[in-house]
Amino acid sequence: MEDVDVVIIGAGSAGLSAAKVLRNAGLNFRLLEAMDRIGGRAWTSDAHFGVPFDIGCAWLHAADRNPYFPEAQVSGWTLHHHDMNIDHLYYRGRKASEAEEAQVKAADAAIAALMESHSGDDDRLGALLAKGRSSRAAATFSGPMDFGSDEDEISIADFKAAADLDPNYFTWEGYGALVARFGADVPVELSTPVKRIHWDGPGVACETERGTLQARAAIVTASPAVLAFEEIAFSPALPDAHMTAFFDLPMGMLTKLPLEIRGTRLGLKPFDDLLVERVARHDIYFLCFPFDLDLMVGFIGGDFAWEMSAAGEAAGIDFAVDRLCELFGNDSRRHVGRAMMTDWGAERYVRGAYAAARPGRAEARSILAQPVADRIYFAGEHLAGPLIQTCGGARLSGEQVARQVVGQLQR
Ligand SMILES: Cc1cc2nc3c(=O)[nH]c(=O)nc-3n(C[C@H](O)[C@H](O)[C@H](O)COP(=O)(O)OP(=O)(O)OC[C@H]3O[C@@H](n4cnc5c(N)ncnc54)[C@H](O)[C@@H]3O)c2cc1C
Repeated sequence: MEDVDVVIIGAGSAGLSAAKVLRNAGLNFRLLEAMDRIGGRAWTSDAHFGVPFDIGCAWLHAADRNPYFPEAQVSGWTLHHHDMNIDHLYYRGRKASEAEEAQVKAADAAIAALMESHSGDDDRLGALLAKGRSSRAAATFSGPMDFGSDEDEISIADFKAAADLDPNYFTWEGYGALVARFGADVPVELSTPVKRIHWDGPGVACETERGTLQARAAIVTASPAVLAFEEIAFSPALPDAHMTAFFDLPMGMLTKLPLEIRGTRLGLKPFDDLLVERVARHDIYFLCFPFDLDLMVGFIGGDFAWEMSAAGEAAGIDFAVDRLCELFGNDSRRHVGRAMMTDWGAERYVRGAYAAARPGRAEARSILAQPVADRIYFAGEHLAGPLIQTCGGARLSGEQVARQVVGQLQR
């Protein structure tokens, strides 16, 4: 492999945007991707339901700051404004009363105020939340469903630093398809996992099965879990602070359980949000019939989602279908068609949904924002400032780090 100015590892949202900045600055680069496609966690596929379905990211969060949003608008993408509200709340099989729904909304505001007023040491988010049933329903969205982690595994400081992601938009064509289109003109070496990065010489040498690539600097966009598992090894080892930071940013989990529902809408409207709270914390959220498609998309998050990965797809689908039967009667089972379960935990080159700092360890993100020896830079959703965990944030992180690299190399 010929030598270049910069090697970028990973052709997800962050890697693709970094490549474009380097190209515009006139630097030459190689973008190496382990998978056989670009997009990483942004991936739209019609293989399951015959219509575009986002296996990974789906909502264009923070549309007013998300560079993908104006591009989708200009391209005539079909967009639907969808800020999440709980339209239907169930406690196990029982529909919550109006008073209970009002309590949840009040709890939502109370949690926001608690967060705002919190000062002092970092702690578990769970320690901040009252244990009442209504506040737990409100916290389900912010914890397992949004952060991909249970409240006891979330750092208050990390949670507070994340922006409110409204306004949110959903797209019929698929967020993954939007990212794939964004990256279509970027040259990428697919199916080329980087095994090791040597940085004992003047620049970096990236070992792959197809050869070793020499560059002046590397931008590494793999998730912190991929790095903690040493899918990419470093010679010499990275400083302890960086290795500890990978460990302190474990991946949360969000799992989708889309069910095709034929011949009925179960009294629900397109884009309704339905939440089922269960005593054992096995909560499930359904996005109902987006774009009036025959789909109810179940979501489970946090520890429960990791447990479901171990239980397997059949158990996941059974769980989602059983919940529908609990709410709408056993007859609803006969309306269920195709179904699947996403499993990002099993994806070797991602290993989870997105990163969330351990309680007390929120500074892990700023540690990873520091380059190593002015030649190894990290970028991705985990380093996206207030837009952490989002695809738009990953893109902004890739751009920002690439500008830093340009500044360093053109010095
Ligand atoms: C189920 C789910 C739902 C989500 N929902 C939303 C949503 O609605 N809205 C939203 O904004 N975000 C959402 N996200 C998060 C969003 O998808 C991610 O934040 C974003 O796509 C991450 O981009 P990235 O470039 O940082 O990382 P990635 O997309 O993971 O890209 C990193 C790339 O590095 C590659 N790589 C790893 N190791 C190596 C190696 N050794 N050699 C070469 N390449 C390697 C990987 O294959 C991958 O392609 C969701 C994520 C999941 C999993």
